[in-house]
Amino acid sequence: MPTPLKTVADIWAQVVIAGSNECWLWNGYRDKDGYGRTCYNRKKHVVTRLIFAFTHGRDPVGLVCHTCDNPSCCNPAHLYDGDHEQNALDSVARGRAKYKAHHGTDNGFSKLKEQEVMDIRWLADNGATHKQIAGVFRVSAPLIHYIATRKYWRHVPEAA
Ligand SMILES: [Zn+2]
Repeated sequence: MPTPLKTVADIWAQVVIAGSNECWLWNGYRDKDGYGRTCYNRKKHVVTRLIFAFTHGRDPVGLVCHTCDNPSCCNPAHLYDGDHEQNALDSVARGRAKYKAHHGTDNGFSKLKEQEVMDIRWLADNGATHKQIAGVFRVSAPLIHYIATRKYWRHVPEAA
């Protein structure tokens, strides 16, 4: 088990800080996949999420990923969150709101438009979770799964 840590400084004390472009390795407890894990404020945390929150002043959106593919790296410059994914979802949601305003009705699941099916496929292919997409389109996650895997709406062509 990781040793409980109490302050932000305690967390940083376990990071081997190197050059700004180098990987800063976590010197504390790592799980079997190499991700640093720790206890902080009496809760268990993935270290990169804590580092992200410290350096950005907000919680990460979705997953924290590494540009360096090094799971134990804590260099804030190598960490990014699901914000880019969220942006894609937001723009789809905005487009949908506009569509609704224009047509005056909310389309239920049975009336998903071809464009929406293409948007759903695109989001799924670009890493959005089925649950996230389901939230945007207000349909069930299993339905998104069937659309994303091309089991439903097979007649809708693939986006160019
Ligand atoms: Zn790195």
